[in-house]
Amino acid sequence: MKYGVNEQGYYGDFGGAYIPEMLYPNIEELRQQYLNILHDPGFKAEFDQLLKDYVGRPSPLYHAKRYSEKYGANIFFKREDLNHTGSHKINNAIGQILLAIRLGKKRIIAETGAGQHGVATATVCALKGIECVVYMGEVDMERQAPNVARMKMLGAKVVPATSGSKTLKDATNEAMRDWINNPVDTHYIIGSVVGPYPYPEMVAQFQSIISLEAKKQLKEQTGNELPDYVMACVGGGSNAMGMFYHFLDDESVKLMAVEAAGQGVDSGHSAATTFLGKEGVLHGSRTILMQTDDGQVVEPYSISAGLDYPGIGPQHAHLYKIKRAHYVNATDDEALKAGLLCCQLEGIIPAIETAHALAYLEKMQFKKDDNVVICISGRGDKDLNTYIKYFNF
Ligand SMILES: *Cc1c(COP(=O)(O)O)cnc(C)c1O
Repeated sequence: MKYGVNEQGYYGDFGGAYIPEMLYPNIEELRQQYLNILHDPGFKAEFDQLLKDYVGRPSPLYHAKRYSEKYGANIFFKREDLNHTGSHKINNAIGQILLAIRLGKKRIIAETGAGQHGVATATVCALKGIECVVYMGEVDMERQAPNVARMKMLGAKVVPATSGSKTLKDATNEAMRDWINNPVDTHYIIGSVVGPYPYPEMVAQFQSIISLEAKKQLKEQTGNELPDYVMACVGGGSNAMGMFYHFLDDESVKLMAVEAAGQGVDSGHSAATTFLGKEGVLHGSRTILMQTDDGQVVEPYSISAGLDYPGIGPQHAHLYKIKRAHYVNATDDEALKAGLLCCQLEGIIPAIETAHALAYLEKMQFKKDDNVVICISGRGDKDLNTYIKYFNF
């Protein structure tokens, strides 16, 4: 694939594995094994069967008629919100836990922001009867309390990360520390297309089911498998990468990634990584991240916990740099209003993360026959308190 990873684990200038020496054996084991396991017929059969019977795939491609009228194009929603546990995260959780079992691991650790990755991981660990520990920023535990309760009900131990901004990046640091201390029996499930190689590639492959299905569904519904635009929100970038994956080599398809501007890109309270960031190393890979002039990671801010991350995956950094995909942003206010509009026009309560992608529709200029696919990455149940506070329901 033209935009895929090379043998050294790089996408152009980005990627690689910048890891402490003590993690080298784990990462090396993954690097050597993951493709063999992913291509093993037994693995594929179990993965496909769970996606179908447990997650409920294929997720529908829904022609959103009132959105189409409003924005003057044919707008389709790829309904990852209808997956078991409420977002795209379960695709990757199933993939990595099946892989971990085949690597002989007995214990799963994960980091989580919105809690969706933690819930997905705890869910699949319960399904498979494996010990599960989830690290979560203290601030995120507060704003995503229902997901904390879900993880506990599912049998996971939830450990608060109390350093820094007490959000996703801090939880990621804690999870890495755990892995360094438990290298043999533990698999660390990263929830997005970030981290040292091979994680970004492995997660992208597990999420690529989104665009594989969308292409087929679009062909059935419109006669053409290629849309004019594909849009998704970007935290680390896994739903966007899954949504882009099978369209990357189709150069006519415009790829739009929407980052969280928070209170505005110039407000000092933002998570618009490509707008504010520079090249550097974050969580084990060379990518684009928000940092000070002397290289300290800048605390990100977004009202949506899932987008509150100071970096993006290395493949996104590459697609940004070579301009294969366009990176734009939406503020907290724009996203919340777009979320409410989606409720009122389509009867779908989207996650606030997803609402950022929807918000950017306001700034697009479409031609009448344009086909536009938006990844509805998750449902908004977990965000009800944030919506209630903002709109005073
Ligand atoms: C986690 C999450 C995101 C952001 O993560 P990506 O890796 O960028 O996809 C977006 N939407 C929802 C619903 C999420 O749970």
